[in-house]
Amino acid sequence: MIAFLIIAMTGLGVLGVVKMKAINADAAAIQSEWLPSVDALGELRANVIARRTIVRQHLLSDTAEAKQVMEMLLEDNLRSNDEIRRRYEKLVTLPAERALYAEWGQVWEAYLQGVRQVLALSRNSRGIASQEARDLNINTVSPIGTRVDEILKKSIELNNRQGDAAGKEAAETYRSAVRSLAIILGITVLIGTAVGVYIVRDVSRSITSIVTPMRELAAGHLDVVVPHRGENNEIGTMADALQFFKLTLIAKKAVDDDAAAEMRERATRLAVLATTDRLTGLYNRLKFDQALVSEIARAKRYEMPFSLVMYDVDRFKDVNDVHGHPAGDRVLVGLSDAISSHLRETDMLARWGGEEFAILLTGSDCHDACVVAEKLRTAVAQIVFDQVGSVTCSFGVTEYRDGDTPEVLVARADAALYQAKLNGRNRVELALPCGPDTDLSSAA
Ligand code: GH3
Ligand code: MG
Ligand code: MG
Repeated sequence: MIAFLIIAMTGLGVLGVVKMKAINADAAAIQSEWLPSVDALGELRANVIARRTIVRQHLLSDTAEAKQVMEMLLEDNLRSNDEIRRRYEKLVTLPAERALYAEWGQVWEAYLQGVRQVLALSRNSRGIASQEARDLNINTVSPIGTRVDEILKKSIELNNRQGDAAGKEAAETYRSAVRSLAIILGITVLIGTAVGVYIVRDVSRSITSIVTPMRELAAGHLDVVVPHRGENNEIGTMADALQFFKLTLIAKKAVDDDAAAEMRERATRLAVLATTDRLTGLYNRLKFDQALVSEIARAKRYEMPFSLVMYDVDRFKDVNDVHGHPAGDRVLVGLSDAISSHLRETDMLARWGGEEFAILLTGSDCHDACVVAEKLRTAVAQIVFDQVGSVTCSFGVTEYRDGDTPEVLVARADAALYQAKLNGRNRVELALPCGPDTDLSSAA
């Protein structure tokens, strides 16, 4: 673009200089040739006219003194004529003009010759010149003088024509220069504008090709393609930088995703740890408390029955004392597995603390719960543990009643369990009241 502008401007300059030189040459010719020639020829004409007038005055002079004065004037006139001719001769350039001047010179010599004859006759006459002298002047010499003047007029016209031609040529050169300059300038402006529009559009397209993927990246779309059209300029550098930025983001996202996954896993592990009993793998008391609150809310909303069973290993201290704590632990684990296997998916078993456990039986009223507790009691009693042999458990059962809080519900189940212990252990006790058709005999 810049190269084009430089070439265009240089062209304009060269053209301008060439045209100006031509105009200058024409102006100089007018100034130094044609106008001075016309001036000199004009002076010559005036000189010739004056000479003819003086000759006539000579003829009309009636004294010798007056004739003498006229002759002195004629000598002055001749000197002036010679001086003008010397000046003019330097200005003669065209062959046509030179031919005219040569012709003029011959006629002028003839005229001077004639004038000398007329003056000789006039000088010899006393008073006004003789008829012979006047006739010679009028009939012979004066027509030669007229011829001299006509040749001068022709030369003047020739010079004027040359001057006009040079003037017209200068004007035409000027017009064509203005025309050419305007055309070149117009073309330059048009091409410049077109190139400018193209460059602006190209730059705008290039910027869009960077900004669009930039926005996509900002919106998290890391699969966006960063176009690189092979530009070896700032746009190309930006595309490279953006591509590098994208790859960095992808790498960082991979690291972030890994870290987030690890965090999630850790959180899950922590949540499990926080809600799980380490020894048995059952839910702990914290989790059971939360479940109890949720179940009470559910029971209230849907009027669904549910029951709570609490059981405790009988005389477990003795197990520890006789067989050691590790053996006691194994019993607790084995018992938990066995009881879990007898429960439904929807039921929830948790270690309440020590060798005491709690079961939440969803959708079960106290009768169903007593049946389940009894089944569990029988199952436990039938298990034979390595080294320890068999153990028994005592069960306390209660059903949720309107208005129960978790504490009230647990306290009722606990009281029933205590009652089972009091009544001899290895048995199920149902807390009262328990629905309209509670049948205590079915509980034992
Ligand atoms: P009861 O029939 O009245 O319940 O008698 P018990 O001996 O079971 O009751 P007590 O409260 O006197 O003793 C409970 C024992 O349970 C004492 C304690 O060492 C033991 N125990 C509690 N938690 C664990 C445990 O995690 N592992 C082992 N091995 N023993 C435990
Ligand atoms: Mg016990
Ligand atoms: Mg206990």
